Amino acid sequence: MPLLSVDRVSFKYGEQWVLRGVAFEVEKGDFLGVIGPNGSGKTTLLRVIDGILRPQEGEVRLEGTDIGNLRREALARSVAVVPQYSALAFPFSVEEVVLMGRSPHLGRWRFEGEQDLRIAREAMEMTDTLALASRDMESLSGGERQRVLIARALAQEPRLMLLDEPTAFLDIRHQVDFFDRIRLLNRKRELTVIAVTHDINLAAHYCDRIILLKNGRIEAAGPVEAVITEEHIREAYETRILVDRHPGTGSPRITLT
Ligand code: ADP
Repeated sequence: MPLLSVDRVSFKYGEQWVLRGVAFEVEKGDFLGVIGPNGSGKTTLLRVIDGILRPQEGEVRLEGTDIGNLRREALARSVAVVPQYSALAFPFSVEEVVLMGRSPHLGRWRFEGEQDLRIAREAMEMTDTLALASRDMESLSGGERQRVLIARALAQEPRLMLLDEPTAFLDIRHQVDFFDRIRLLNRKRELTVIAVTHDINLAAHYCDRIILLKNGRIEAAGPVEAVITEEHIREAYETRILVDRHPGTGSPRITLT
């Protein structure tokens, strides 16, 4: 059984359909990228998978269970989100933020136990944020803050990690650092990842499979080489581009022409 099944999902805000008959599956250990022009429905798709939005048609199943039937906390024990960093600058310490990742797992008295502290600590070790534990989130750089948000998501011990344009405001070194870390967790720990990004080259470099959305429909889906072609990208983005190969990795690379 796939970890995630998105089964003919359609979603509309008011009268406007934003997702139309979107269907795909994700297996444990996959690294899936979702690309598409602005307004194509990428963020809406993530919110449907995260259970924040309920589709009017179709359903999303996590290991066979319709997520519409799961309680919020049960879903949060399985699905973690790393948001865009600008959305989060709250007055908490790094350790407090990482421990928030444990909240869906806490018992009725809501106190963190030894095990929660240990898991949070491990999450900080994996993201090189342990040395920042007592710092205020607000005092961190963008790259540091994103590492803390990965740690928080890891502390959740999710079966599926959703990345919502997580590197949109980072410089190129920190973009690469971020995706290198996620890639390592994906490879070493079989962390299943769905990453929404408008950066086609980052997606081509790191993802195993890609979904290309346009106007709420899947235009192309499959292995990176099959999706990132001149034809698909020109058609979806309505712009002139060239696709060649990255000289180091051989993955497709796009250039504006
Ligand atoms: P993307 O992430 O690919 O840029 P979105 O999922 O954010 O696309 O948006 C898809 C479409 O849905 C856009 O036309 C956008 O204007 C519309 N939309 C997004 N959020 C809302 C909302 N809260 N209410 C109404 N329309 C929305």
